[in-house]
Amino acid sequence: MAGSRGLVGSAVWRELVREGFTDVVGPGSAELDLRERRAVFDWFAAERPDAVVLAAARVGGIRANATRPVEFLSDNLRIQVNVLDAALEHRVERLLFLGSSCIYPKFAEQPIREEALLTGPLEPTNDAYAIAKIAGIMHVQAARRQYGLPWISAMPTNLYGTGDNFHPEHSHVLPSLVRRFHEAKESGARRVVNWGSGTPRREFLHVDDLARACLHVLEHYDADEPVNIGTGTDLTIRELAELVAEVVGYQGRVEWDPSQPDGTPRKLLDVSRLTALGWAPRIGLREGLAQTYAWYVENLGSGA
Ligand code: GDP
Repeated sequence: MAGSRGLVGSAVWRELVREGFTDVVGPGSAELDLRERRAVFDWFAAERPDAVVLAAARVGGIRANATRPVEFLSDNLRIQVNVLDAALEHRVERLLFLGSSCIYPKFAEQPIREEALLTGPLEPTNDAYAIAKIAGIMHVQAARRQYGLPWISAMPTNLYGTGDNFHPEHSHVLPSLVRRFHEAKESGARRVVNWGSGTPRREFLHVDDLARACLHVLEHYDADEPVNIGTGTDLTIRELAELVAEVVGYQGRVEWDPSQPDGTPRKLLDVSRLTALGWAPRIGLREGLAQTYAWYVENLGSGA
């Protein structure tokens, strides 16, 4: 497990344990810096994993991506190349590489099918991250082609849930709104200002659903093309804000700052390939939000 302490990696780990796997291994970034090639090769030589889930990445919301493109490109490329090369050296039997829905063209036909990859220009606020992830998909495809390894790639939609990053500037929209609305409620503020116009549409998947989907595709999917992982439904950021306000119990005004970027207008994945494999999400957005808010209050809400 690469990225075992992150939002995705920790959820996949919990799911593996729930399914009865007893030999899950994976260092956190404090123990092993995946950008360090020698250290990654040493780790593989010592642990010799049979299967790898590559969930390690530098991730962030629209502002983090737009202001730190060098790190998003360089860190992600290095993490992937090191882990995939080491996995290749050890002929790891099964490997799942996790990308993101932002690899698809900005104006891809909606819902976005896997075939849309590389058919048009990317969204500029996250193109550096997207290019790194596209290189990862290609790396997996190349390993399949050249060495016949049954490695696969999956592209999750926007994720949220237990262990998310709630940083006010760098996180994704859902945790940002949870924190902003919670803090407004606590301080008695009667007005919050969110970024952009609120009109872009986004799809949200709870990370526990993603974890179940990862195990499902590892068991049932084996093809060159990536497989999308999502719910198949989206909503506007404005609708999301209303839902967050309701779940958090914030009753003040909600305003929008159009000087902040909207990003891509819509990002809804076509999940028919995944559905055909017999998988469906279990956690609805309202339920997932309530769970995430409870986790936030318990773990971070007191000022952490
Ligand atoms: P994206 O899906 O890659 O665009 O990334 P984000 O999750 O960061 O942003 C999604 C949308 O939510 C964009 O249209 C943002 O402008 C909007 N948004 C509104 N308020 C916020 C906020 O406080 N933080 C973030 N990250 N996005 C926000």
